[in-house]
Amino acid sequence: MRILFYFLVLLFSHQSFAQTPKWHGDEQSIMGTRISVQLWMEDDQKAEAAIAAVMDEMRRIDQQYSPWIETSQLYQLNQSVAKATKENPQKISDELSFIMDKSFYYSALTDGAFDITFASVARYYDYRAKLKPSDAQREALLPAINYQHIHLDSKTHQVWFDHDKVYIDLGGIAKGYACDRAIDILKKLGVKSASVTAGGDTRLLGNKLGKPWMIGIKNPRTEDAVAITLPLEDIAVSTSGDYERYFIDSNGERVHHIINPKTGKSTKGIMSVTILGPNGIDTDALSTTVFVMGAEKGLALINKLPGFDAIIITEQGKVFYSNGLMAPQ
Ligand code: ADP
Ligand code: MG
Repeated sequence: MRILFYFLVLLFSHQSFAQTPKWHGDEQSIMGTRISVQLWMEDDQKAEAAIAAVMDEMRRIDQQYSPWIETSQLYQLNQSVAKATKENPQKISDELSFIMDKSFYYSALTDGAFDITFASVARYYDYRAKLKPSDAQREALLPAINYQHIHLDSKTHQVWFDHDKVYIDLGGIAKGYACDRAIDILKKLGVKSASVTAGGDTRLLGNKLGKPWMIGIKNPRTEDAVAITLPLEDIAVSTSGDYERYFIDSNGERVHHIINPKTGKSTKGIMSVTILGPNGIDTDALSTTVFVMGAEKGLALINKLPGFDAIIITEQGKVFYSNGLMAPQ
């Protein structure tokens, strides 16, 4: 009896002192997009430090892999394409080597639908200024789009190019990778429940005080309207849309930022692709990839990749789900 009494005293005193985790969040403009971090943690100071650590990491990744920042590693690499020959390979960081290796994996898997050299042509699109490359310019540079022009030794991290007009952009994969890095940092700092978003890429750690996070997929043609809401936890989710960066050209055609490497032009057929999977680097690359492949081939790809699912909204507004999201027949 006495033991029970002490046990109850202990239980109640513990409960009255135990703090419930509180919500902490911040949003900043980094990598040319909105970075948002939300987490649930008891200790305010630790929570704020964790959020600051994520924002620092986002800034570091931007400084390393932005194609526009002159001191970035990617900028420097793009500058050295002509001189980085077989006899004179260029050394890159382990991290850049990892991101490029992952990109090549998806290029090889999809016959080049995902290709970080898409920018050899796409660097001449300017969506804000409503500019696109001329047909002559596009055709002249099209041969430079081919990931196989990049020769990377994934052990020594040395790289060389066999085409001097290659230009690399990691915009289809870097934000998902950044979300993975953020979640790794948060885990190391003891965070159990967090959501990190970089533009269209989100990674979730745990759930929200026992309930799933509610992640909305935008209606691609209605500003700020949500088409589908998914209850999710412990997962990465990436959405690519033809409404993120685009303009309508003089022929009434939508010119947007997802490029078919075979033509150097914006893809057609899909308005939005959402991919669910364990890691942001993969869901990010795959959302862009499925966009390029089209609904039918894209769904077939996702259906054969264990652990991944897709929601595709076509130009006609039809919604397709991968097998993993469908009830068994
Ligand atoms: P965001 O989150 O910026 O909307 P997405 O995941 O939708 O990014 O990918 C679009 C970005 O991917 C483009 O802005 C461009 O940087 C890059 N990209 C476009 N086409 C391709 C392609 N075929 N292969 C690899 N990357 C691409
Ligand atoms: Mg992507």
